[in-house]
Amino acid sequence: MSRQSIASALLKSVLAGSLSIAALSPVYAHADPLKVVTSFSILDDMVETVGGDHVAVTSLVGPDGDVHAFSPKPDDAKSLADADLIVVNGLQLEGWIDRLIDASEYEGDIVVASDGIKTRPFEGHEDEEGHDHGDDHDHDHDHDHDDHDHAAAEEGHHHHGDVDPHAWQDLENGEQYARNIRDALVKLDPDNADDYQANAKAYIGKMEALNSESKERMAQIPESDRLIITSHDAFGYFADAYGLQLLSPVGINTLAEPSANDMGNLIQQIESSHAKALFLENMSNPALINQLHEETGVAIGGTLYADALTPDGEGSTYLGMFQHNVDTLIEALNTDD
Ligand SMILES: [Zn+2]
Repeated sequence: MSRQSIASALLKSVLAGSLSIAALSPVYAHADPLKVVTSFSILDDMVETVGGDHVAVTSLVGPDGDVHAFSPKPDDAKSLADADLIVVNGLQLEGWIDRLIDASEYEGDIVVASDGIKTRPFEGHEDEEGHDHGDDHDHDHDHDHDDHDHAAAEEGHHHHGDVDPHAWQDLENGEQYARNIRDALVKLDPDNADDYQANAKAYIGKMEALNSESKERMAQIPESDRLIITSHDAFGYFADAYGLQLLSPVGINTLAEPSANDMGNLIQQIESSHAKALFLENMSNPALINQLHEETGVAIGGTLYADALTPDGEGSTYLGMFQHNVDTLIEALNTDD
C-alpha cells in the first residue's frame, strides 16, 4: 500500500515535470520497502503491524480464504521468487508451502512465526484413528505432497493430526509470533531495528491487555455454559487459554468431511450436553453448522473468525479478529435460559 503511494507520488512528480524519468529509478530503489510474503492473512497483518512503512506485505491466502484448502498457482511461485522474506505459521498448517518454495527457487530466510510456542497436541475424534470411514476420506485433494508423504495422504487426512496448528487463537502465542517477526525484520534490515522494536513492543502490549481482559470476561461465564460447537477444530488453543469446551464436526483440517456416523454421534453429544451455541466460521462452508442447527435446535451464536481475517471491518486485523471472537462468544454464552 505504501509502495503504491510512493509510486503514485513519484508519478505525479514526473507528470509535473519536477522529476526526470532518469531520476526515478534510484529514488525508488532507495525507498523500496522489504517485500515480505506471508502464507495467510493473519500473518499479513502481524508483519504489517511490526514492519510499518518498511515492509510491503502480500499474502498467499487472502482474507476469508481457507489456508487448509489452498492450491498455489504459478503466480504464487513468482511472488515468492521476488520476496525478501517469507513468513509462515508452521505446525503443518501450510502443507503446500515446501513444494511452492522449491518451485520458486527462493533462497532467503523463512520465518516460522510459531517457533517457540508450547504446541497443543491434537486429539482426534474418538473414531478418527480407526481409518474405517469407508470412502469418506479417500478422495484426492488438489495439493500434492512430497513423495514420502503420499502413503499417509492416501489414507486420509490423518497426517495432519499430531499437532494443532491454530496457535494464533491464544494471544500469548500471538505475542511470540510478533517477537519472531520482529527478530527476523531486525536481522534482515538492521538500519530500521529501532522501529521494529518499538512497533513490536506496542503491539505486544496491546495483546497482553486484550489477553487479560478476555480471560477476566470469560471467567464470569459459568463453566457449565462454556461449551461451543464450531465448523472445524480451529479454537483448541483458544479453548485451553480462555476456558471453553469445544465440539466440531470435523477435525483440525477443513478438508476432512464427517461421515454420516460422525454427524450422528455429534448430534447425540450436542443433545445430551448443555451446548449453548453453534458458531459459523468466516472461511468455512456453513452447511454443517446449519445442519446441526436444524437437527438439534441449538442456536447459531454468530460467526467466528477462525483461520483468516475479513476483507474489511473489525475482523481485518488480528487484534480486531480476537476482540470480535471474544465479544461474539460472550454475547452468545451469556444468556439466561
Ligand atoms: Zn483451520
